[in-house]
Amino acid sequence: MKLDAKALRYMSQEDFRVLTAVEMGSKNHEVVPMSLIAQIAQLRAGGAHKIVGGLAKKKLIARVQNMSYDGYRLTYGGYDYLALKTFAKRGTVYSVGNQIGVGKESDIYLVADEEDNQHVLKLQRLGRMSFRTIKSKRDYLQDRKSASWMYMSRLAAMKEFAFMKVLYENGFPVPEPIDASRHCVVMGLIDAFPLRQIEEIGNPGKLYSELMSMIVKLAQYGLIHGDFNEFNILIKSDGAPVLIDFPQMVSTSHINAEFYFNRDVECIRIFFRRRFGYESALYPRFTKDVTREFCLDVQVAASGFSKKMQKELEAYQEEIKDMSDEEEEEDEADDSDEEEEAQDKDIPSEVTEDEKMAIKLRNIRLGNTEETESEEEE
Ligand code: ADP
Ligand code: MG
Repeated sequence: MKLDAKALRYMSQEDFRVLTAVEMGSKNHEVVPMSLIAQIAQLRAGGAHKIVGGLAKKKLIARVQNMSYDGYRLTYGGYDYLALKTFAKRGTVYSVGNQIGVGKESDIYLVADEEDNQHVLKLQRLGRMSFRTIKSKRDYLQDRKSASWMYMSRLAAMKEFAFMKVLYENGFPVPEPIDASRHCVVMGLIDAFPLRQIEEIGNPGKLYSELMSMIVKLAQYGLIHGDFNEFNILIKSDGAPVLIDFPQMVSTSHINAEFYFNRDVECIRIFFRRRFGYESALYPRFTKDVTREFCLDVQVAASGFSKKMQKELEAYQEEIKDMSDEEEEEDEADDSDEEEEAQDKDIPSEVTEDEKMAIKLRNIRLGNTEETESEEEE
């Protein structure tokens, strides 16, 4: 799903008022009735109709014909615009540049603030997985509110920001958390290569023990990354590692904590053996080496990302994990020719670091940042 920031410049205040009305209406309506949109936006029905039509044409909202009434729901495009508008208003994002990454469930863009400081915008795209899964699963997912994908994406972004903030404040090498809104996080740009792209290093033993120490230190603070691998570790030019990607982090008091901890350790061991031919008899074990000294998960809860939210997100992640396991088997069995696959192919799988360097930031300005009346509810 491409982020097309261009049209944002041509959005009027009223457009945003209506878009915000659809978002607000979505809180208790799967499909927001036209009359409610007009009411929340405080526009006369005729005026609201016209604006709604325009927003639907730009694919920021989508018309849904329900059995009992017609109405609209927000699309990811509309959700993107609402988040960008909030960032623009707060001065954290002034322009949007090139896409530098696309994960299974996220899009990563370069952005800049008004002083032209470059940052990274990560947009969560939960629900994307379902595009590629088998039909029965898809039907089952379609039963769910599409809005709930957006809600889950919002939870993932909230969680990522909360953990990044706590880790950053406690001296862990992670990007600087800059801002968050809805399903989006703005963070510091790390000038580095993912470990995945590093073919050779002078002293693998040194990096290996740094990474293992990081896993242990996290656990001493009560946390497990849960996806500690060569994609989520960036290596700066001085060789120092930076950890990214936090929506799946778990507490060391999680029921499967030992499993997650050992899996993180194992990921690094396997990678170092295969890539650098480096093996060490020394590696941390959950039961033996981890004694909890601090409680960062409590700090995270204090940040507004509650235990309840954590549970909701976890339930979704479990579901998706089961689906993706099946999907992998399915993918090996046959290459299904689902229409959506064509769309997936339009997304570059990964922009290489060289390309990234070569790319001149052709930024798209977000345009006016004047106040809209209805604010995001934080
Ligand atoms: P996902 O959840 O999709 O795996 P990640 O947060 O791991 O998303 O980011 C995907 C890729 O984007 C990373 O592997 C990295 O190359 C790039 N990236 C993400 N955040 C940053 C950042 N702060 N600075 C530089 N590159 C980043
Ligand atoms: Mg990642």
